[in-house]
Amino acid sequence: MSLVLSGVHKRFKDRDVLRGIDLEIPNGEIHALVGVSGSGKSTLLRIIAGLETHDSGTVTWEETPLDGVPPHLRRITMLSQSPLLFPHLTVGENVTLATPNRSRQEAEAWLARVRLPGRYDAEIHELSGGEQQRVSFSRALAASPRLILLDEPFTNLDPELKYELQRLIRDLVRELGLTALLVTHDREEAMLVADRVTLLEAGLVRASGTPQALSETESTFGDFIELGGSL
Ligand code: ADP
Ligand code: MG
Repeated sequence: MSLVLSGVHKRFKDRDVLRGIDLEIPNGEIHALVGVSGSGKSTLLRIIAGLETHDSGTVTWEETPLDGVPPHLRRITMLSQSPLLFPHLTVGENVTLATPNRSRQEAEAWLARVRLPGRYDAEIHELSGGEQQRVSFSRALAASPRLILLDEPFTNLDPELKYELQRLIRDLVRELGLTALLVTHDREEAMLVADRVTLLEAGLVRASGTPQALSETESTFGDFIELGGSL
C-alpha cells in the first residue's frame, strides 16, 4: 500500500509548474519534500488533497485512483504554515468543526494527545502560535486521516517550540501508523523527522534518498541544488 504519483502535470496559464512527477511513498513512511520557493511543492500537496486539479497523470492512494474522489472522502488531511482556525469559536469547536459526530470526550482526548489537555473551552486568541498549530494538528487527526500532508507547518514557530512540535508530530504519525508528506526548507527538520527526502526542481523529481545522505554535505537545501549533488 502506498501513495503513487505517476506523470503528474500541472500548468498555470503559461507556466508548467509540475512537469511529470513520479513518486512512490509506502504506507507508514514520513517523506520530506524539498525544493526552492516556487518549485511546486504546495501545488503538489494541494493536488493530493484534492484542493487543486492536475492536467495529466495519476494520483493513487491505497490502491484507489483519486481522480474524482472528493477531498472529504480521501482520508487525507493537510496542515499548513499558518493554523487556519476560526477565532470566534473555542478550541474544542475548532477541533470538532469538520467532524461534528465526534463527542466532546473524543475531542478532549485528541487535545490531550497534542499536549493541550483541558483547553477545550479556551478561546483561540488566548493561545500562542505554537498552541494554535497544535489545535490544527488535533483537528486534522480527529478527522481520522490515513495520510497527512504538512506544508511547512513549523515555519512560523520559534526554535524551541519548533523542535518540540516536530518530535510530537513525528511520534504521533508513527504511533497512529499514518503516512506523512512534509514540505520543509529545513535540513535539520528533514533529518529529525523524515525517512526519505525528495528534491523537486523545475517541476520534476530531481533526487530521492535518505536524509542521512544529506548529512554528508554542509550546504542548505538551496545550496545543495546549486551544487548539483544527489541525495
Ligand atoms: P512552492 O510551494 O514550492 O513554493 P507553489 O506550488 O506554491 O510553490 O507554486 C508553484 C508555482 O505555481 C509558483 O510560480 C506560483 O506562483 C504558481 N501558482 C501556484 N498557485 C497558483 C494559482 N492558483 N494560479 C496561478 N499560479 C499559481
Ligand atoms: Mg509552498
